[in-house]
Amino acid sequence: MFKEWNIELNQFIILIIIGAVGGWSLGYPGIGVALVSVPYCLWMLFRTRDLARWLAGGDKSDPPESTGLWGQIFDNLYQQNKSYKGQISNLQNIIIRAQQSTNAIRDAVIVVDVHGNLEWWNDAGTRLLGFQLKTDRGQNLTNLLRDPRFIRYFDAGNYQRPLEIPSSHQSGVVLQFQVTVFGEGERLIVARDVTRVHNLEQMRQDFVANVSHELRTPLTVIKGYLETFMDNLQQDHPQLSRGLSRMNEQALRMEALVNDLLLLSRLETEQNERVLKPVGMARLLRQIHTDALAMNDSKQHNIQLEISSDLDINGDEEELRSAFSNLVINAIKYTPPHSNITLRWYDDDNGLCMEVEDDGQGIDPQHLPRLTERFYRADQSRHSKTGGTGLGLAIVKHVLIHHNAKLDVYSELGEGSIFTCRFPRKCVVKDTQKSVA
Ligand code: ADP
Repeated sequence: MFKEWNIELNQFIILIIIGAVGGWSLGYPGIGVALVSVPYCLWMLFRTRDLARWLAGGDKSDPPESTGLWGQIFDNLYQQNKSYKGQISNLQNIIIRAQQSTNAIRDAVIVVDVHGNLEWWNDAGTRLLGFQLKTDRGQNLTNLLRDPRFIRYFDAGNYQRPLEIPSSHQSGVVLQFQVTVFGEGERLIVARDVTRVHNLEQMRQDFVANVSHELRTPLTVIKGYLETFMDNLQQDHPQLSRGLSRMNEQALRMEALVNDLLLLSRLETEQNERVLKPVGMARLLRQIHTDALAMNDSKQHNIQLEISSDLDINGDEEELRSAFSNLVINAIKYTPPHSNITLRWYDDDNGLCMEVEDDGQGIDPQHLPRLTERFYRADQSRHSKTGGTGLGLAIVKHVLIHHNAKLDVYSELGEGSIFTCRFPRKCVVKDTQKSVA
């Protein structure tokens, strides 16, 4: 480009010199220079007009024909224009492909802006949620999805777990919503039809609840007869009496299992519909401590209670009692006689903690991730002696989920274990709530 400009400059200087010399030979060098400069300027002006016309014509026509500097300018502009057109077409293709692929997804994909207003959704958004392009774009999402559970979930901003609710657009359909925050507060929402999985899960829960419930009556009858037989046969038939007492032990274990299964299925089904009330934590833990001392006859553990926070939480007292008792009972069961067990209630920067620490056998770290699964046992050889149901920690986990809390387990083989229930600060009972309670 600069080469052409230099040539153009040189040509202009030569032209001026020719004009000046020609004019000088006639006695009018100024007029000679003017006579060559004016046509040059006019030529330049016409080229500029050509350029302006071509630019005004958009990208439809080819650039004007020219040589030298102007030819180079036109060529460069033409090449750049062509390359921009290529880039635009590539971007358009990417957008079309992205739209086609999101439209092919069976889940609804919705984008909302920082204010929660609908910006974009795919075809499944129209099918599953009934959004209409003409009327709904720019509307606030909570005006269109009015289920109070969705509004609470959407506004709370805690999207760690997905939300499952029945669709208000199609009856009998259950939708799972998962929200992801991106950019500067925009949100991407994926809504999935989980009706089949939901129904299967419901069937499983119903089955377990029904079987457990149905087992209760025959178990009560069996236990009743066993007790009567044991009372009457004690002295006369020592061998039979031993057998009966083993049967009674197993009947009691089955009863515990049925009760735990029923409690678990209740915890699973009542996930959203419970009202939490202020629970006096110090009082609750003192009761659990007293119960633990009463159970502690045979092993003679040293069981301590340390309460260093006077804060209470909003919760379901019976559920919390069951969860904390399970942890304490486990500590009693899985530690050798004369172990130290400590129950703690304290608060720190991260929230409030109920903790059970023991210095028993501990748990191999490989088992920790699966400890809260139903019927999972870290040590198969130990459980037949302890008589546990294998559901204790699953119950603890579910109770804590209800309270937006979580269970942390720290354990080392041969050293002991610490089970910590961590409650978020938002669970704390405010003074105004206390006076209502
Ligand atoms: P279980 O009815 O068998 O006690 P849980 O769900 O309460 O069922 O506990 C699961 C497993 O975790 C137990 O079988 C045991 O192996 C292990 N466990 C729980 N608490 C402790 C503890 N304090 N010390 C050592 N092992 C423990």
